[in-house]
Amino acid sequence: MAKGLALLDDVTPHDGGNGGSTLDIDLMWSHVQARLQDIVSATNYSRWLAPIRPVDLDDHSLTLALPSRFLKDWVETHYRDRIFDLFRQQAGRAYTLNFVVRNILTGGEPAAQTPTETRPGLQPVAQQPAASPAADTGNVLTGGALDPRCTFESFVVGKPNELAYAAALRVAESPQTHLNPLFLYGGVGLGKTHLMHAMAAHIRRRTPERRVIYLSAEKFLYQFVRAIRSKDTDSFKEYFRNVDMLMIDDVQFLIGKNNTQEEFFNTFNELIDQNKQIVLSADKSPSDLEGLEDRLRSRLGWGLCADIHPTTYELRLGILQSKLEQINSPVTVPEPVLQFLAHKIASNVRELEGALNRIVAHAELVGRAVTLEAAQEQLADLLRAYDRRVTIDDIQKKVAEHYNVKLADMMSPRRQRVIARPRQVAMYLAKVLTTRSLPEIGRKFGGRDHTTVLHAVRTIDKLVREDHLLAEDVQLLEKLLKN
Ligand code: ADP
Ligand code: MG
Repeated sequence: MAKGLALLDDVTPHDGGNGGSTLDIDLMWSHVQARLQDIVSATNYSRWLAPIRPVDLDDHSLTLALPSRFLKDWVETHYRDRIFDLFRQQAGRAYTLNFVVRNILTGGEPAAQTPTETRPGLQPVAQQPAASPAADTGNVLTGGALDPRCTFESFVVGKPNELAYAAALRVAESPQTHLNPLFLYGGVGLGKTHLMHAMAAHIRRRTPERRVIYLSAEKFLYQFVRAIRSKDTDSFKEYFRNVDMLMIDDVQFLIGKNNTQEEFFNTFNELIDQNKQIVLSADKSPSDLEGLEDRLRSRLGWGLCADIHPTTYELRLGILQSKLEQINSPVTVPEPVLQFLAHKIASNVRELEGALNRIVAHAELVGRAVTLEAAQEQLADLLRAYDRRVTIDDIQKKVAEHYNVKLADMMSPRRQRVIARPRQVAMYLAKVLTTRSLPEIGRKFGGRDHTTVLHAVRTIDKLVREDHLLAEDVQLLEKLLKN
């Protein structure tokens, strides 16, 4: 848990606040801000300096908060000295500066504080919404039923998903967090939807007064389009703006749908400004989501983006053991069979579950014990397909990671060697490891011509015989991809 907790701790406010000095700091800070506005360009001011909030002033130091680690680092590196000087001029003497990451969206009237969340002068607390008259669906409105199997208890936590899990739990447990928006991202079948359902179910059970909407992006889109058709966008807006927590799953589907993205952005901003919680999931990080509007991308960075990494062998084994307990079948599945599955079915938890279910069902039906041989036989078709099924997406992702280039550069027109070479390696691997044709591969790499792909394949094929470092890279990548 070390990493997850460290990050979460980072946004936990210090105790012992600014007490009576709130006004003084705010006043002095507004002067500093005015001076800063004179000194730097408007863009730089609004991007880097406007989000700064003074949160504490004691005898020696001034503490300034920024809503993300990135902003904090940037401001600290680029503006620390200037701020130090300006504040010294204001205060008449020098104070050391502390920068902390804390998501404080001020601007609203500080409303009534809840006892557990009292942070005087710091944070407006969301108003309790008017009770919903049509509450027959409970406090959680969804586009479909919540899957009762998807709970926090049934979610197996390991290194790859511990941050996402901890953040999801934190947000589900407390009506006010600094993890806003919470953005969960990761590949298919890694548990994003599971975590979101778990959050909604948790809130429904524990704090039914919190109003939550959980929707897939497709449902959001559908409702929006329907509202436009029936010229009833006002109630659409009402519907989404009158909640404590809005959860939208798979937001990548909103991209490119400009009206919907626009509407979503408005809703998003309003809710965030009112300190309502937003939880989103997507298959990629905000920076890799092509076509996402920049202002939305940057706002997403204000909260926490938690990456669910591909599963490790240990996590897969843990998941299998937990699923087996849940199935609660009289059939025993020996450990080596679980290990075999965890080893072979590496990319997607859904398929892992499917394979386990198949083995158990088979054993129940024919009344024979599960053995490794039997399992291998029953899953032969799946495993064969699986062995063959390395996708171009996987290849691009792994290669980009390996060479530390952006995923988007796999598709970009950039030709610098540091990017072009990894891209060629990826095209080569796509040719070798998948059954895709050259034109298909070209399309997946930003619409390149098949001759470009052919050239890449030939180049790498030649280079691996001359350049042992490159040969090692390629071998390692092949191994990682075939798992
Ligand atoms: P995603 O939304 O990321 O594509 P899902 O949440 O639908 O993935 O997960 C796919 C399946 O795998 C679901 O049945 C889910 O319960 C299961 N699953 C994924 N990760 C875990 C985990 N860590 N522990 C238990 N089950 C998991
Ligand atoms: Mg999903």
